[in-house]
Amino acid sequence: MGDIVEEFKKAETIVIKVGTSTITHNNGTINFYVVEKLVRVLSDLKNENKNVVLVTSGAIGVGCSRMRLNKKPDSLPEKQALAAIGQVNLMHVYSKLLNEYGQIASQVLLTKDVIEDEQRKINAVNTFNTLFRYGSIPIVNENDTVATEEIEFGDNDTLSAIVAVLINADLLILLSDIDGLYDKNPKHYPDAKLIPVVRGITNEIEKISQNTDNSFGTGGMITKLAAARICNSHGIPMVIANGDNPYNICRIIDGEPVGTVFVPNGEED
Ligand code: GLU
Repeated sequence: MGDIVEEFKKAETIVIKVGTSTITHNNGTINFYVVEKLVRVLSDLKNENKNVVLVTSGAIGVGCSRMRLNKKPDSLPEKQALAAIGQVNLMHVYSKLLNEYGQIASQVLLTKDVIEDEQRKINAVNTFNTLFRYGSIPIVNENDTVATEEIEFGDNDTLSAIVAVLINADLLILLSDIDGLYDKNPKHYPDAKLIPVVRGITNEIEKISQNTDNSFGTGGMITKLAAARICNSHGIPMVIANGDNPYNICRIIDGEPVGTVFVPNGEED
């Protein structure tokens, strides 16, 4: 997969998605060890004049921890209220840390109509472009408080792919709680092997994601494949890597083979 990962060195616009399980502890409190490293990496990418967008989950989880709930409630209004509480907290931490590294954080909360309504789409693209011109790092989440269905995008994996397409990104990196796509569940099978590169989401790959209970994050591997499909069909490569070590982002951009790379249709690896 030499050529495609070499290409990552040239990526100018990069979307990075972190899941709840990466940036929070099991009890929902923020994992500062990971978040601080993540912020440092984002700041360095920005200092290298790259456009960086962070798509972050965690609002509901952090909201639960703020309200001292040890379990996510089932009702939508409660989840939406908890997202409202947690989102403020999350943004406070990102903004404070980014500020320490001389960066300007901005918050972009999106709902599904951004892809369904042409004018909203144009407005969102214009806002991202202006934020890049201002040198800001947009931090994106779904606007959970006004989502009318059970999280409209369904998950931030899909949302991050939609954002990557909107801003015509060169690369999407999904940081997860697993090293990448395995041929079977590595927690149950010690001989499970990481699949380093996927060229086209074949039936076989679909089956692996469905049968193996491959990821244990919110979205799971099925939504990650959906994100790969969206990105790849627009010519954007996607990488799934372990977020426990945010320096994996640097390794990917340095052209090291990390995690699982999903190569866009028609591109040679
Ligand atoms: N928007 C949700 C949150 O911030 C997360 C969605 C997801 O986990 O992908 O809690």
